[in-house]
Amino acid sequence: MRILVIEDELQLARHVARALIRHGHEADQRHDGVTGLAAALEQQPDLVVLDLNLPGLDGLEVLGQLRKARSPARVLILTARGEVEHRIKGLRAGADDYLTKPFALEELVARVEALARRGSTGAADMLVVGDLRLDLQLRRVVRGGQPIALSPREIDLLQVLMREPGRVFSRTELCERVWQRVHEYDTRTVEVFIARLRKKVDAGFDVPLIQTVRSLGYSVRPNPGLEVNPR
Ligand code: CA
Repeated sequence: MRILVIEDELQLARHVARALIRHGHEADQRHDGVTGLAAALEQQPDLVVLDLNLPGLDGLEVLGQLRKARSPARVLILTARGEVEHRIKGLRAGADDYLTKPFALEELVARVEALARRGSTGAADMLVVGDLRLDLQLRRVVRGGQPIALSPREIDLLQVLMREPGRVFSRTELCERVWQRVHEYDTRTVEVFIARLRKKVDAGFDVPLIQTVRSLGYSVRPNPGLEVNPR
């Protein structure tokens, strides 16, 4: 993949670019929002690793401009801990995933590769698993043609699960990714929300999409026999 890293911490930008190159990608760097946006529009990379807190033009602004220009590039945003609001704004503004600093370079590479597997263009706006569709722009969920009303938090949870169908997410990871709770793992909340999602998404359909994987966690997949890759 051709990747553009927009990050003003020089050392971090360098480490990220090097790790990506080591894994066989092409990686270019820019260290402020203005030249970053210009490079993203000019080079048309497959993916942009975008820091939110940037000099010149902040990351959300860069993301907004990219989406306005209908750039098909996938965007992985980097946020500092505690920037929950920014992260949500970023996802709503069309980011494909996010990573909280500090992060392990291996995780960044894994996320980048997961985004690559999702294919390119158009699909960025719509997650599809079986007959279930989640429109990321409108934050609307439809199953078998029927709209399903979900709360913003329920949509956030479903979005995490649907981004990687078949992957098993532990309660702890869901807690962290949806509720941004890192230390106090309120796994009971996850169970309550999964139960609500089931009621709304699976009730009345022959094939349940939300699966419980014993002692591991939860997964969304159209076929319970599908290969599972816990990590
Ligand atoms: Ca920064």
